[in-house]
Amino acid sequence: MSLLKDTFGRKFPYMRLSITDVCNFKCGYCLPNGYEVNKSDNRKFLHLDEIKRLAKVFSKLSVSKIRLTGGEPTVRKDLPEIIKILKNESGIKKVVITTNGYHLDKKIKMLLDSGLNGINISIDSLDRDTFKKITGHDRLPEILRGIKVLQNLNFNNIKINAVLLNGVNASEKDFDSWGEFIKINKVDFRYIELMQTGNNLEYFKKYHVSSKIFKEYLNKNNWIYQTLVKDAGPSLNYINPEFKGKFGIIAPYSKDFCRSCNRLRITSRGDLRLCLFGNTGISIRHLLQKDDQLEELQDLMLGQMKFKKESHYLELGKTGITNNLSSIGG
Ligand code: SAM
Ligand code: SF4
Repeated sequence: MSLLKDTFGRKFPYMRLSITDVCNFKCGYCLPNGYEVNKSDNRKFLHLDEIKRLAKVFSKLSVSKIRLTGGEPTVRKDLPEIIKILKNESGIKKVVITTNGYHLDKKIKMLLDSGLNGINISIDSLDRDTFKKITGHDRLPEILRGIKVLQNLNFNNIKINAVLLNGVNASEKDFDSWGEFIKINKVDFRYIELMQTGNNLEYFKKYHVSSKIFKEYLNKNNWIYQTLVKDAGPSLNYINPEFKGKFGIIAPYSKDFCRSCNRLRITSRGDLRLCLFGNTGISIRHLLQKDDQLEELQDLMLGQMKFKKESHYLELGKTGITNNLSSIGG
C-alpha cells in the first residue's frame, strides 16, 4: 500500500506525470488557440533520466501506476523509450496514457510493444462534425481506426473520456450513440463535467452543464450503479449486462468528489502538484539531477503530504494557478 498519505487519510498509489505541455489540438475548453510557447518559461520538459529517477522514487513510495499525460504525450518522439524505462527500470507496475488519439492508428502498435498497460482516449463526440468543432481537427476516423487496431490486438484496457458540453454533445441522442458504441465494444466511456480554469471562464459559463443530466439518463435506462471499490478513483461507474462496456461519470463539482482522490501530479517541468487546482506546487526538479539525490526527494515528497488540502474548492470558482489543464494533464 502507498506510503504517501495525507492528513485526511487518503492514500496515493497513483501518479499523473505530464511529459509535455505541447498539444496539436485546439479544444475549446483547454487550448482554443492551440499551444502557445510561453517565452518567459525556458525550462525544458523533463528528460528521460529525470523521468527515470522520479519513477524510481515513486516506486519506493509504493506508487504502482503512472499515467502519462500532457499536453499531448504522443507528440514526444521518445514516448516509447519513456514507457520502456518506466516498465523495465523503475519498479512501476502499470504505465498508462491519456491521449487525444492523434495518429492513434499508426502509433498504437509501437506503444503497446513498449509495454503500455492501458489507454484513455479523449473523444468528445462520435459525430465527425461535432468532434471537429470542439477540437479544431477532423481526426475522428483515425482515432476510431486506432481503437479497431487495439481490439484486433486483443488489448482491452481502453477508456474513452468526453467533456460534457451543453448544447454540443449532451443530448439524449449523444448518450444513445455512446450506448450503441459500448454495446458492441468492450470500452468504458465516461463523461467528465466541464471544469472552470483560469483561462476558460466565458466558455465555462456558456457550456457547463451538471453531469446530473447523464446520471438521470442512466437511471432511466436501467444502468446499475457499481459501488465504489476502495482506491478506485473519481469515476462513478454503471453497468448493464446487455452491454460490453461500462458508462461512467466524473463529476468534479459533486459534494464528495475529492474524498476519493488517489493521485498526485507532476508537471512536465518537474513541479509537484498536490491537486489539479489550488496554489500548492513546488519544483522537485533540482532533486532529479543525480542518482544519489533520490532519498532526499523521497523525504521531500513525504513531507509535502501534509499540505494537501481536503478539496479543490472549485465550486467556489477558485481555479488557483491552473490556467488550463494542458499544463497539468487533466
Ligand atoms: N491531450 C490529452 C487528451 O486530451 O486526452 C491529455 C491531456 S488533457 C488535458 C486530459 C483530459 O482533460 C482530456 O480528457 C480533456 O478532455 C480533459 N480536460 C481538459 N480541459 C478540461 C476542462 N476544462 N474540464 C474538464 N476536462 C478537461
Ligand atoms: Fe490538447 Fe488534450 Fe487540451 Fe485538447 S484537452 S487541447 S487534446 S491537451
